Amino acid sequence: MGLFADKYPEVPLAEKERLWAEVKADSRFPAYLYGCYECGICVASCPSARFYDFSPRKIAQAAAREDLELIYEQMNDDVWNCSQCFSCNRCPRQNSPGGLITIIREVAVKNGLKSAKHALEGYGRVIYKIMGTGTQVSPDMLQPDAFPDWGPQVRDVSAELDLWRRALPPETLHTTSTGWQVDEKTIIELYLIWHHTNVMDMIAEVDEGLFMILNDVMEEKLEEAGYEI
Ligand code: SF4
Ligand code: SF4
Repeated sequence: MGLFADKYPEVPLAEKERLWAEVKADSRFPAYLYGCYECGICVASCPSARFYDFSPRKIAQAAAREDLELIYEQMNDDVWNCSQCFSCNRCPRQNSPGGLITIIREVAVKNGLKSAKHALEGYGRVIYKIMGTGTQVSPDMLQPDAFPDWGPQVRDVSAELDLWRRALPPETLHTTSTGWQVDEKTIIELYLIWHHTNVMDMIAEVDEGLFMILNDVMEEKLEEAGYEI
């Protein structure tokens, strides 16, 4: 029984235990948690703690106490407020609350938790772009028609795109043609990595439609290159 009221009493304790066991079984886990002094240094360095009801100290403490109810609650809420900046790595106990959050998020995604689906639903297009082409969303794509859900700022940003691009320090990023081209061999390697490391299975858990589109794109390219997946 944890210190706080259980927000998810309908979820059996055995299920919370199973998910926590998955977090602890991650090979990175022992390097991310050594105990907690409760000093709050991580909170003072955390940008997300300034804007949300969120505390990396609570993440480390819940993990150190193995408070299954609170960990499950954090897996469904708090962890999605972290911006993964790792400023909290200055912890004097050498914990990495941000690292713990990375593992917890991955477990949430692998298990298709509703919170993971909800947190990632706005990123389908970005994930498709990154995984399908091996590159990121380029500023040129920030057009009002393509991103109506991004609100009126897109219109302001897109009006000055050429100027914004020229302001980027690396010269290669000044044009789309040179900045966002991925070599054919590299894209095949990326597709193989995503398949062999089960990233595609994770996508299938959180967004089946996106998985099917990506899988089609990848299968075709891999077959052309002589691979079967
Ligand atoms: S900085 Fe480290 S020891 Fe201090 S509260 Fe945060 S996790 Fe605990
Ligand atoms: S990694 Fe997350 S928890 Fe750590 S300082 Fe950054 S936002 Fe806060």
